[in-house]
Amino acid sequence: MPVTIDTPPDPHDPSDPQRRQLLRLAAAAFVAPLLPMFTAHAAPLTYDLKPVKLDDGAWMIGGRQEAITFENGGAIANITILDSSEGAIIIDTGPSRRFGEELATLARTLTGKDIARVYLTHFHPDHVFGNQGFEAGKIAAPAGVIKGLQELGNGFSDAMYYIARDWMRGTEVILPSVTVTEGIEDIGGRRLRLLPRAGHTGADLALFEEKSGLLIAGDLAFLDRAPTTPHANLATWRNTLDELSAIDCKLLVPGHGPAESSTRAITQTRDWLTAIESIIVRCFEQGLDMTEAMQAELPAGFASIALARYEFTRSVMHLYPALEASKLPGVGKRSN
Ligand SMILES: [Zn+2]
Repeated sequence: MPVTIDTPPDPHDPSDPQRRQLLRLAAAAFVAPLLPMFTAHAAPLTYDLKPVKLDDGAWMIGGRQEAITFENGGAIANITILDSSEGAIIIDTGPSRRFGEELATLARTLTGKDIARVYLTHFHPDHVFGNQGFEAGKIAAPAGVIKGLQELGNGFSDAMYYIARDWMRGTEVILPSVTVTEGIEDIGGRRLRLLPRAGHTGADLALFEEKSGLLIAGDLAFLDRAPTTPHANLATWRNTLDELSAIDCKLLVPGHGPAESSTRAITQTRDWLTAIESIIVRCFEQGLDMTEAMQAELPAGFASIALARYEFTRSVMHLYPALEASKLPGVGKRSN
């Protein structure tokens, strides 16, 4: 019978006496392997956001295809701005208060209007720590995103301050006030199909905007940059990707990587998840330890994907223990 990687233990389990410590460690582990660069930086800190037009009244601010470092200030995720007759609609707020404030200013300039709505695609810090640039009452996310940010936000914050330092000054965790559920929300002539799903984390939001045909996938899709898996359930993620691939979109905006008219981001993300799971399971079945598994050869087709080895190593670090806990007798099992 083939071995698969099961869902990792639920860090939200309130019965776990070490829950708080685990949550903090889990959050720190998300960014801790990203070694900070302790170089002097005299230039004034500004993100100098450069919007790229996707469609009439639709722009993307492309994140750097890198890990979070001091040099990039954490600006590695894609952000989308949509114009509507009611005001600007923002999808994800970026990594820091400074970014959020610059983003809000840019959105007002581009649209000539105030902010009507902000959506968060998931709780990872590169997507949500700019929330302070916006009124909390206008920030919306699925319940699981709000809960995840509540549980993990302070741990993410510690790690982000450690790495991005001055970029993070004044940044605090701000929880969304509006809960997103499945359905269509019409904001100023933009009909947004809200698709709360899961896979990249326990709660992800994809949005399909009917007027422009834009599918904004958040981190459910990566393109030319290796997907991150610290909070992923690979089987669930693949099911969600199957569902998204059936949407007839004009342009797909991934969480990381270029927006394209093809669904290449979905295919590539799916292929990556299938490949790394198969490699990691094979290594486990061969009795290799984690360090040996990290050296495993990656398919040649992934050579052009940014951070392939880096993210594969991180995936081994958190998927291997899950495999050991589920497949080795006694390991990771509670005795009481
Ligand atoms: Zn993410």
